[in-house]
Amino acid sequence: GIRLKDELVRVKQIFSAAEISFSVPEEVTFRNVSLLTENILSMCLKEAVTNVVKHSEATYCSISIEQTRMEVVITIKDNGVFKGKGESGNGLMGMKERLEFVNGSIELLTEQGTTLIIKVPNDAK
Ligand code: ATP
Ligand code: MG
Repeated sequence: GIRLKDELVRVKQIFSAAEISFSVPEEVTFRNVSLLTENILSMCLKEAVTNVVKHSEATYCSISIEQTRMEVVITIKDNGVFKGKGESGNGLMGMKERLEFVNGSIELLTEQGTTLIIKVPNDAK
């Protein structure tokens, strides 16, 4: 499995190669998050970033990762144009299915660019 910290390193390399400027957290530290949950979050982040590079035509993408008392929230926001119409491909569907394993959810906002909000409850200690 992939740790989120390692995925963030790759994400920065991918944005650099694609010439998309970015804001990406330097560090992540979690409490009460299992390795399974972290691996699923890493996979979701990877797919979200792949979508930004493949589809968005964005010049900028910001990623935030926050943990509250209840949950982990990852937000991936780009300033491009959402291209999907109705049917989602394998990527978004796969994220949704994997997140369901850990009682997580995904929210897609397509008003100004694309914003993907991924939420997973903290694992019990
Ligand atoms: P796959 O992920 O299976 O390789 P895909 O990327 O086309 O294929 P999804 O990841 O499910 O499929 O995304 C569905 C569609 O939503 C995309 O084809 C694209 O049109 C649109 N989309 C997703 N993310 C973005 C984004 N960040 N900017 C613009 N359009 C997007
Ligand atoms: Mg995709």
